[in-house]
Amino acid sequence: MNREKILVIDFGGQYNQLVARRVRECSVYCEIYSYKTDLEKIKAMAPQGIILTGGPDSCYAEGAASCSRELFDMGIPVLGLCYGAQLMMHVLGGRVTKAPVREYGKIEVDVDRSSRLFGNVSEKTVCWMSHNDYIEKTAPGFRVIGRTADCPAAAAEWEEKQLYAVQFHPEVLHTQEGTKIIHNFLYEICRCQGTWKMDAFAENSIEAIREKVGSGKVLCALSGGVDSSVAAVMLSKAVGEQLTCVFVDHGLLRKDEGDQVEEVFGPNGPYNLNFIRVNAQERFYERLKGVEEPEQKRKIIGEEFIRVFEEEAKKIGAVDFLVQGTIYPDVVESGLGGESAVIKSHHNVGGLPDYVDFKEIIEPLRNLFKDEVRRVGLELGIPEKLVYRQPFPGPGLGIRIIGEVTPEKVMMVQEADAIYREEIARAGLDRKIGQYFAALTNMRSVGVMGDERTYDYAVALRAVNTIDFMTAETAEIPWDVLGKVASRIVNEVRNVNRVFYDISQKPPATIEFE
Ligand code: GLN
Repeated sequence: MNREKILVIDFGGQYNQLVARRVRECSVYCEIYSYKTDLEKIKAMAPQGIILTGGPDSCYAEGAASCSRELFDMGIPVLGLCYGAQLMMHVLGGRVTKAPVREYGKIEVDVDRSSRLFGNVSEKTVCWMSHNDYIEKTAPGFRVIGRTADCPAAAAEWEEKQLYAVQFHPEVLHTQEGTKIIHNFLYEICRCQGTWKMDAFAENSIEAIREKVGSGKVLCALSGGVDSSVAAVMLSKAVGEQLTCVFVDHGLLRKDEGDQVEEVFGPNGPYNLNFIRVNAQERFYERLKGVEEPEQKRKIIGEEFIRVFEEEAKKIGAVDFLVQGTIYPDVVESGLGGESAVIKSHHNVGGLPDYVDFKEIIEPLRNLFKDEVRRVGLELGIPEKLVYRQPFPGPGLGIRIIGEVTPEKVMMVQEADAIYREEIARAGLDRKIGQYFAALTNMRSVGVMGDERTYDYAVALRAVNTIDFMTAETAEIPWDVLGKVASRIVNEVRNVNRVFYDISQKPPATIEFE
């Protein structure tokens, strides 16, 4: 399969995943590895090229993340980005020091278009910078191919050795011609062919799964989210009726979502698999009674989910394989891929769950980014509505209802959220906003309706744009759209008399409320 490969060597930069995504968007497969990875291992992978990411350290400081000189002597093209660029210079005999002027944000760079890295790039091009150190003197052999007002060596190359260094971040979208520059590195310098295509991925994986599973039995926990849906469809195409999907409806889904999942995966849908829907609403509501603390709610929902799933799995009996919708960011964030700190432990990465009796785990999407999962989903013919479904937390509406969860409150937030989504779609904004949803605050306040006093709940509307979900900014929804949503909500949803529009950024607020 993917013989052509680029390695992204991670020095702990915050954009490491973005680097990998950009490379893949250029149809070249790549993987992220920590800078601590053995040189022999890197050699053995025989990559077409290597990209060194940014990082928080100062390369000249003691204990800084580093790499060996030999990395640059293997005849493999290397592109250093920011910290990676500084390190390349440092290791090869240049001089990196604290910059007299730090650069942060969009900065104009003068580039030398005679370099293969910049062949088709404008002479003056806006790039994203974020550095305290700078390259005071390039290493012997290098020639400067980019400058800014404050940075005499914003880019450098050693053409014969195929070494390239840029102080800016081509992977960040604010770098106007960033994708072009990465494309140039991949195709003009590394001589990649561009073999990473999603249709080929789907076909090859289905074939590989079929071979692996043989006549075995496969079990999949379906949440209705994009990842598990795409994984389930791949499995069903590979092994059909040998697959059983268990869908637990915990009563905390968005309006009509349970039925939509059943429509696609159930007996009347296009896939030939065994589908079990467990309507466990009552159980969840019962266990959530009187519980107000967010972490406790999360825990209860998670535990109950496993319990229900386990009961169903026992009815099926021993299976050979368990399918999980793990995707690449889960792997990296769990500290297995790159160098970034463990951001959150994903329950489904690393260890094997012990609640069902099975031999092996299958994670068909383990190497894919979210947008790639979506492309595979479309490739497999999964309805767009499902493929472009917004991210939805596992505990569902349970954490979009602040305070105690009751069936009545679930209904309120479901209705309000459905109205919100409908109006956003009607205004043509549904693909333009990263994530948007309604939440139910625990606040009740006085209102007046039909000349009568009310004392009812307030709904909060959230809308954010985010590239990586680590940071998010408020999306600006036009007032007339918001006004329409607000008036429909108070008119149509019982026991709601007030609507708030949340304009907080992440950080300090999170995207979800609990
Ligand atoms: N820590 C280095 C600096 O401050 C590199 C920063 C980066 O890679 N973004 O210059």
